[in-house]
Amino acid sequence: MHGQWFDDALSYNVIAEMKGNELPDEIIVMGAHLDSWDVAAGAHDDGAGCMHALGALKLLVDQGIKPKRTIRAVMFINEENGTRGGEEYADQAVQKKEKHIVAIESDAGGFTPRGFGVTASEPQRLKLESWLSLFPKNTVDYMSKGGGGTDIGPLHRADGTPMMGLNVDGQKMFDLHHSANDVFEAVHPRELELGTASMATLVYLLSEYGL
Ligand SMILES: [Zn+2]
Repeated sequence: MHGQWFDDALSYNVIAEMKGNELPDEIIVMGAHLDSWDVAAGAHDDGAGCMHALGALKLLVDQGIKPKRTIRAVMFINEENGTRGGEEYADQAVQKKEKHIVAIESDAGGFTPRGFGVTASEPQRLKLESWLSLFPKNTVDYMSKGGGGTDIGPLHRADGTPMMGLNVDGQKMFDLHHSANDVFEAVHPRELELGTASMATLVYLLSEYGL
């Protein structure tokens, strides 16, 4: 794979936010990672996840929705070789005493969404399960025990924030993952849109009803 080590360079997480109308201090964070392996664009790993998060915010904006709780999209830096973006995000959240009600990650590719993995209390997981009929048809149909992501792991460990990971139909992921095949053309627009719609549905429900 022709990997090489270079000196560290200054880089940043990129954050977009819709402030909550009624409970702005309660934050729902959804994220993905901005860095990728150098051999290709990293379109599925993890450009698609970044688009899921940004696209979900755009869907809410386009619908004129004013969320009750704050919804934040974070594109974490340095997932692939150190998780320093995720660590820094968690450090700042603790310093600022931010209250995250849940953290959601999309880092499984831009394929057709199937469900969410959930690391939370059982009553919280059951509440999520009760929303399944509200997701777009032929997309999310389970909320299984256990799930999260590398970038949101530090926040979960720091303050116990419940975490979730978007699961997709990943049959082809390892034809592409970390290889020269992970290019823009390998992402199917419709499959990507279904993931975005699923993420938007989830964060909207969380912003309305909490966890
Ligand atoms: Zn990734």
